[in-house]
Amino acid sequence: MGDERVKAEALQIIGAFQVLPRLVVFDLDYTLWPFYCECRSKREMPSLYPHAKGILYALKDKGIDLAIASRSPTADIAKTFLDKLGVKSMFVAQEIFSSWTHKTDHFQRIHSRTGVPINSMLFFDDENRNIQAVSKMGATSILVDKGINLTALQEGLTRFSENWKTIEKNKQKWLKKFSQNPNSSDQIT
Ligand SMILES: [Mg+2]
Repeated sequence: MGDERVKAEALQIIGAFQVLPRLVVFDLDYTLWPFYCECRSKREMPSLYPHAKGILYALKDKGIDLAIASRSPTADIAKTFLDKLGVKSMFVAQEIFSSWTHKTDHFQRIHSRTGVPINSMLFFDDENRNIQAVSKMGATSILVDKGINLTALQEGLTRFSENWKTIEKNKQKWLKKFSQNPNSSDQIT
């Protein structure tokens, strides 16, 4: 399937959701491309997973921002590859550095750089420890098996809107509780 076909299908998938993330964050190695970039040379011509480019273009088309959170120790190689692939300028934030935390510091930086609340973010990564850590911060986090593809996109957007509904429901519950018992703290004392 060519990039244009993938983009068209991705646009259809995205179009079916009423609630969408404001920012989609991608890991690099084994999420956007099928290798560890630290094992490659800058002189090589890299390639992305087959669905990656179409998905990036579709998200961008829908006005959704894109960012990168990678623990790669070779940011220079990663950035050269993104440039060679013609996608570097698509990302509003590129946090690429090795770290002892499981990307929580990457997300803090993405949040302060973009101002997007973490619960308005959708994240794709191939490592479960990153998924666990980042979902605790409030981002909808999806474990990918063989890189990003249309199935993972569909799953991500479904989970995102489910999480969003839960947040909204809880907000309503609190508002209702508060408006019914505006003096509840007085009653306790
Ligand atoms: Mg990875």
